[in-house]
Amino acid sequence: MRCITYLVASSSLLFPFSQASALDRRAALDECLTKLNVPTFISSSANYTQAIKPFNTRVTFKPAAYAVPETTQHVQDAVSCGASNGVRVTAKSGGHSYASHGLGGEDGHLIVDMRNFNNVTVDPTAQTAAIGTGGRLGNVAMALYNQTKQAISHGTCPGVGVGGLTLHGGYGLISRSKGLTLDNILEATVVLANSSVVTASETQHPDLFWALRGAGAAFGIVTSFKFKTFTAPESNIVFQYYLTPANASHLSTILTALQDFSLNTQPQELNMRFFLASFSSLSGVYFGTRADFDKLIAPLLAQMGISTTRGTITTNTWLNTLTSFSNGPLAQAKEYNSHETFFAKSLMPARLSLEAITALTTYWDTNARSNTRAWYLLIDLHGGNSSAVSAVPADATAYSHRDAVFKMQFYDRTYGNVYTESWTAFLNGWVQAIMDASPDAQDMGMYINYADTSLASEEAHRRYWGRHYERAVQVKRGWDPEGMFMGPQIVGR
Ligand SMILES: Cc1cc2nc3c(=O)[nH]c(=O)nc-3n(C[C@H](O)[C@H](O)[C@H](O)COP(=O)(O)OP(=O)(O)OC[C@H]3O[C@@H](n4cnc5c(N)ncnc54)[C@H](O)[C@@H]3O)c2cc1C
Repeated sequence: MRCITYLVASSSLLFPFSQASALDRRAALDECLTKLNVPTFISSSANYTQAIKPFNTRVTFKPAAYAVPETTQHVQDAVSCGASNGVRVTAKSGGHSYASHGLGGEDGHLIVDMRNFNNVTVDPTAQTAAIGTGGRLGNVAMALYNQTKQAISHGTCPGVGVGGLTLHGGYGLISRSKGLTLDNILEATVVLANSSVVTASETQHPDLFWALRGAGAAFGIVTSFKFKTFTAPESNIVFQYYLTPANASHLSTILTALQDFSLNTQPQELNMRFFLASFSSLSGVYFGTRADFDKLIAPLLAQMGISTTRGTITTNTWLNTLTSFSNGPLAQAKEYNSHETFFAKSLMPARLSLEAITALTTYWDTNARSNTRAWYLLIDLHGGNSSAVSAVPADATAYSHRDAVFKMQFYDRTYGNVYTESWTAFLNGWVQAIMDASPDAQDMGMYINYADTSLASEEAHRRYWGRHYERAVQVKRGWDPEGMFMGPQIVGR
């Protein structure tokens, strides 16, 4: 299995958390954690071996120590052990970061695994829920629903952790109507670099609250969120239309139609994604009646050159709706053991120019179609006139992609154990071709929740946070002046 090496972020926030000999401090860290009764996985244990195997097995790192706290005091004590030993501390919730940022994104971090912070407590009258950051989305959705038929907006994969998803975005089946997961946070409880605990909200430490919503890994360890919930909709139209674009020109027509629809016509009740691989599909959820859906979708399908008879359309309850997109059951084991071996990239364009669409589809025709690996391009219709994500003012949170029409994920995986490094040229070339044809390439964003291992820190900062980056650094200077919560791509320099 390969270890990926990053360029390490430079400068002032790094002292005194040097990575130079962090791995040598394992014994001292373990001793400190043991003395303070913080539960750990020691490096010779089977638990440890399983816990440090990331979702993306292409990107592996060696921690300096591995804490598995059960209480907030344990988290505070783990942070103080990191501080007293000069070792960076990283929270891990679901472990699904594409670049294994939950393992620090580099060797030598003290990992604080939040798996025991998985409580879900609903207040049905206030329509709020306290949710631990270590919960996995499938379990959280079931708990919200089973307690009082509540729901939050979140991503589709049931194994993803609440912590990483929420702190950096969180786009899913109902985001067009209800916003990102992070748009629904009312409060966050955070263990800071100095081991104290604060609550951040619009009225308490608003600068920290701003930064946590989009750049959250860099400011502390969030133990729980208070979310605004909504009553789960029970009669949802779930649809999937299958198609095979005939050629580059047909694919251009499809993408142009989808872009125009997302920007101008698509109502909040319709959530939709286009999947391009060896087969393609348009799928999503409509929160309304079948008759209204048919009226809405027919002109779009006609523009895309898809017959209405190519679709599967069902009416589902909320949990069945989630299951339709979850690629397996919602219930997730605490001992999570699901992995893939892949390289991924993203783009968050405000709008794709005609030239950029042509570049995308030409590359598909000439390079992607003949590629026999299990690659895909997933395009979520993220923003536009009616999207709840775009309705939030651009500077209200650290999330910097409010104006992005599409959330594009380029994913290339192997079913073998080794992803040959030279294969990264396939997706790097695809994204570069689109960039080369885009007048606004310099400003085009990327989504840190699809962390791209090929980005050096400076480009990562610019692509992930754009003009919010400098403000996030200022906030970090206040809350983590010595750079305890650092990694190759997260906020801090
Ligand atoms: C199969 C799959 C499907 C996905 N589907 C979607 C989707 O539908 N929509 C979407 O928006 N994204 C999706 N993602 C991306 C996902 O949102 C990110 O990978 C996310 O960061 C994973 O969160 P995690 O807690 O599981 O990961 P981790 O690797 O544990 O954490 C990711 C980052 O968050 C930090 N972090 C985690 N917990 C905390 C905490 N408690 N306090 C402070 N920092 C913390 C970590 O340090 C790390 O930097 C998907 C990913 C996968 C692998």
